Amino acid sequence: MSTHRENWAGNLTYSAEAILQPKDVHELQDLVARWPRVRALGTRHSFTDIVDTPGALISLANIAPEIRIDPAAMAVSVTGGTSFGILINELEKHGFALQNTGSLPHISVAGATATGTHGSGDGNGILSTAIAAVELVTADGTLVTIDRTSDHLPAIAVGLGAFGIISRVTLDIEPTYRVRQDVYRFAPWETVLEQLDEVMASAYSVSLLADFASPTVLQIWLKTRLDNGDDVDLAPTLFGGVWYDDSDELAPENVNQRASVPGPWSERMPHFRLDGQPSNGGDELQSEYYVAREDGVAAVEVLRTLGAQISPHLLISEIRTAAADSLWMSPAYERDVLCIGFTWAKHPVEVAALLPVIEKALAPFAARQHWGKLFHYGADVIRERFSRSGDFLTLQSDYDPTGKFWNPFLERSLGR
Ligand SMILES: Cc1cc2nc3c(=O)[nH]c(=O)nc-3n(C[C@H](O)[C@H](O)[C@H](O)COP(=O)(O)OP(=O)(O)OC[C@H]3O[C@@H](n4cnc5c(N)ncnc54)[C@H](O)[C@@H]3O)c2cc1C
Repeated sequence: MSTHRENWAGNLTYSAEAILQPKDVHELQDLVARWPRVRALGTRHSFTDIVDTPGALISLANIAPEIRIDPAAMAVSVTGGTSFGILINELEKHGFALQNTGSLPHISVAGATATGTHGSGDGNGILSTAIAAVELVTADGTLVTIDRTSDHLPAIAVGLGAFGIISRVTLDIEPTYRVRQDVYRFAPWETVLEQLDEVMASAYSVSLLADFASPTVLQIWLKTRLDNGDDVDLAPTLFGGVWYDDSDELAPENVNQRASVPGPWSERMPHFRLDGQPSNGGDELQSEYYVAREDGVAAVEVLRTLGAQISPHLLISEIRTAAADSLWMSPAYERDVLCIGFTWAKHPVEVAALLPVIEKALAPFAARQHWGKLFHYGADVIRERFSRSGDFLTLQSDYDPTGKFWNPFLERSLGR
């Protein structure tokens, strides 16, 4: 799988000279030391060319997943190429959990955290906020450990693959918990936007599935945490939406159980099953922008005015929240954010034309972009929006003086 030259969605073909798969960390160190230009390849789920390099792509897919749970430290240490799906099942088996997950469990731990991947929940940071330490193969092949005692971790935790190849990640864990998912359909946009903060606070993790041209939010998904093992009362309506028994339309081979049946966090927090095809099976493109929570209503209103332009190319929009953090290149750096995601039909030309329109509309809110999803911003805008970009570039040069891990995506997005 990982020697494929295309990304998961097939919208990109990597231009790298070679795709290499070391069998252990020593071989990884040797390859990094020898090649003048390298980048780590995760599970290829990014839609941007953030992965690519003119040199060698190095995948950790042949390094067997190794997961060490440390109950005393409430931490788990995992090989970087391991998928979240393998990790969360192992944690659940031993009675532990992560605070949150992204929508799909197929992505690698190191690759997902490198781009700031997130789930939803007012109190939940992006997945990288759980990183307690990383083991990193640096440009000369040396293996270093960076943990929370280092002031480099806030840069490297959303490191965009620019500091080296992360061979192991240590994440915070907590005791396992149960979650129930409920779906409410057709809540009027007006009602939802009048009470957006209440809507997004109405469960541990909330997603709005929407089309900006529709008068209603198509579905509100609530993931309610059942901490004491008690189930909670079900409201037949919520914010004008009506509870929906979606069991008839579930694709059980792809989607985790909803329809209000409580289950372990590992089978409820990700939307998709590890053994199924997520989302639209790759026949899609994605973009995502983040605005400060206080600008959320205005940002959605602006997108609704573009509904007729957006709608013909949109499969679905997913709106979520993430808590503020202190990670330099995180879209939630120092601000609680509303995350506005777009899953597009595979209309590359039309989507490429729409992105500048959306970015212009969201300009008053200084929207930041997802690093792994399509955007149009240039380096000037990104450096202004990500206020620690300058520090990031300085530290990156210290780790990588010859530009081994630098690539055309980083050059275009951050410049020098
Ligand atoms: C169907 C679908 C659903 C998605 N859902 C969400 C979601 O819910 N939330 C969200 O925020 N995003 C989501 N994404 C985006 C996705 O989480 C990110 O693009 C993520 O980075 C993909 O991880 P990957 O393992 O495929 O990494 P890749 O795309 O292969 O690589 C991404 C970056 O990580 C770097 N990298 C990979 N491995 C390492 C390593 N070992 N050391 C250092 N750097 C490394 C690469 O060099 C590259 O810069 C979704 C994508 C898809 C296709």
